[in-house]
Amino acid sequence: MTTPPSGMSAITTVFQRLAPGDHVILPAAVYSGLRDWANQHGRLWGLTFSFLPDFDASAVAAAILPGKTKLIWVETPSNPTWIVSDIEAIAEVAHAAGCLVAIDSTVSTPILTQPIAHGADIVIHSCSKYLNGHGDLIAGAAIVAPGKEHVLKEMAALRNAYGGVVGSFEAWLLLRGMRTLALRVKTSSANALKMAQFLQAHPAVEKVLYPGLPSHPQHQIACRQMNGGFGGMLSFRLKGGENAAKSIAAQVRVIRQAISFGSTETVIEHRAGMESADSPTPRDLLRLSVGIENIDELIADLEQALNSVIG
Ligand SMILES: *Cc1c(COP(=O)(O)O)cnc(C)c1O
Repeated sequence: MTTPPSGMSAITTVFQRLAPGDHVILPAAVYSGLRDWANQHGRLWGLTFSFLPDFDASAVAAAILPGKTKLIWVETPSNPTWIVSDIEAIAEVAHAAGCLVAIDSTVSTPILTQPIAHGADIVIHSCSKYLNGHGDLIAGAAIVAPGKEHVLKEMAALRNAYGGVVGSFEAWLLLRGMRTLALRVKTSSANALKMAQFLQAHPAVEKVLYPGLPSHPQHQIACRQMNGGFGGMLSFRLKGGENAAKSIAAQVRVIRQAISFGSTETVIEHRAGMESADSPTPRDLLRLSVGIENIDELIADLEQALNSVIG
């Protein structure tokens, strides 16, 4: 394992190992910071990218360019629509073609999913989120599977060369935060499931995106791959469109309107407004990071805001 100074630093170190001309396959619904990096910087470095709208093992198999594709990037559940990818199935087709598989497991955390046990070669986390859990530091982590030590060595050398080293104070704070990781993740997951069930029944809500709901298209994969909960992140789309979404985000009182996630406190965000103009994120979508507060207070807060948009 290595500890870069941010999640983005962990991600770019994985890509910096590649050589100009190498090809990478990613989901179209991927963390926007990575999509922007790939389009603006990765391409200049000579990498080529296939962003797949329907990202699953058969789509990955069809997109592999023999001898050119070196890395399959998976984010599960993926931000901000929480699509779940079957790590085992993707690893099988990737390994058959000699590609490495990297998983961004920031949202699932090591508590709910252990991607290496499902066949991943590299796992990255933004520790700025759940691992720290208190919204007061930026750090990252990259972990490689047994037998892939040469990859770890290359990444450590890159971090040394580029100066991507976490500060000692941040490392100390992170160790403090990680002591309660299991408790926080389980409580957030239980709260998020209750919140998702409440939202699904509210007349202002068009659709709830949460892997823990049986209506989620990859619920069965999530049941196999996530143990002990489905995470604290969910999104919902409003019948009243973008205006209703923005109005709700402005009217919550207990929940706070803020970027980032994975902290003890519940935050809401109009995600499309935060991403670049070419973002595929629906404009009627609100993203919720459900924290560890009393769930009845959180639901009551969101209920008064939702009721205000249906008059
Ligand atoms: C936040 C985030 C990142 C980037 O992490 P930073 O620590 O903010 O650089 C990467 N992947 C996912 C899924 C994230 O949510």
